[in-house]
Amino acid sequence: MLNSTTRAARTGGKHRKHSPNKGRVALVAVATGAVSTAGAGGAAAANLQQTSSTEAANIEYELANDVDAAEIVDQVVEAAPQILSIAEYKPTTNLEEQLGKAVQYSTERAEADLAARAPSVVKPAEGTFTSGFGPRWGTMHNGIDIANAVGTPILSVMDGTVIDSGPASGYGNWIRIKHDDGSMSVYGHMVSLDVAVGERVTAGQKIAGMGSLGFSTGSHLHFEIHQPGGGPIDPQPWFAQHGISL
Ligand SMILES: [Zn+2]
Repeated sequence: MLNSTTRAARTGGKHRKHSPNKGRVALVAVATGAVSTAGAGGAAAANLQQTSSTEAANIEYELANDVDAAEIVDQVVEAAPQILSIAEYKPTTNLEEQLGKAVQYSTERAEADLAARAPSVVKPAEGTFTSGFGPRWGTMHNGIDIANAVGTPILSVMDGTVIDSGPASGYGNWIRIKHDDGSMSVYGHMVSLDVAVGERVTAGQKIAGMGSLGFSTGSHLHFEIHQPGGGPIDPQPWFAQHGISL
């Protein structure tokens, strides 16, 4: 009885004690919100001055890609009066110039990234992988086979120069391309040829149409890759090294 009375009293006490604080808590929340906004603005401004750090570069990247640059300037300018009350804020005299440089730097970086990730090697044809590199039917299969419909585009796997394009024993038709790194790719059985000897081709360029000419039991591409100055190697790991699975 005594306990419950005490508890009731305490509870009542709690209510009385906390109720008047609600207003103050709300005020603190508003103030904290203002500080957070100013803090973020200050942090962004500080980071913009450290263009060499990876973290800053990432932030610039996000700024450039996700938010309109003019919007950022507006936000920072609007936030400026709030930032002034923060001790660690250091006024930036040429913020717009820095933002401009940051956006330009970010754009250049994005372009460089795209160039670096551009495929230097492409798959020579879409289709079903039907035969691998190695001994087959008592002989050596010097390449891989990819089967698909007659006329399916055959693509040069890398930049290079056409050194053969025409009939060849066993291959029906073949195209051989000498690549800039000294390697050579060979394509066989095509029904149509789109490139001539001496022609310059780029990775992914259509060079022929798939067929079943020569020593072939159905429409497919026979593909070989030869090492610089050497013989044929297994194309599968070679493609895998370039991020292509067959
Ligand atoms: Zn083959």
